[in-house]
Amino acid sequence: MDENRDLAASKENADRLLLKLETYVGISATVIFLGAVYAAALINMPLYLKILTALFGVAFLVWGVGLALKAEQTAGFYECPRCGERYVPTYKAVFWAPHIGTTRKMRCPYCGERAWHKKFVGEKEVTK
Ligand SMILES: [Zn+2]
Repeated sequence: MDENRDLAASKENADRLLLKLETYVGISATVIFLGAVYAAALINMPLYLKILTALFGVAFLVWGVGLALKAEQTAGFYECPRCGERYVPTYKAVFWAPHIGTTRKMRCPYCGERAWHKKFVGEKEVTK
């Protein structure tokens, strides 16, 4: 019994760390993207280097956002405000869902209703 509680507490700590890392990855990818795009626009260099620099920035942003979304999908769980069920959504559902912070408008896999689902780690709601 205590072992299960320890495992649950350990999973919660890992999930919180994952959500922090998501923020850092998202910010880093955005800064690198903007830096690469501005460098390509403002620094005097051959056209092919400008294109390569901008593509590097775009690739880094796509990678960073993909990684951040994967972290957000797998850390903790979402709760349906209609039926109260808790679940881990698919990557596709998280990718396409409109969101405000970590709250996402998704279809519940249990009751089928579309609503704003809040993210939880353990018993605590995650707000960003
Ligand atoms: Zn539901």
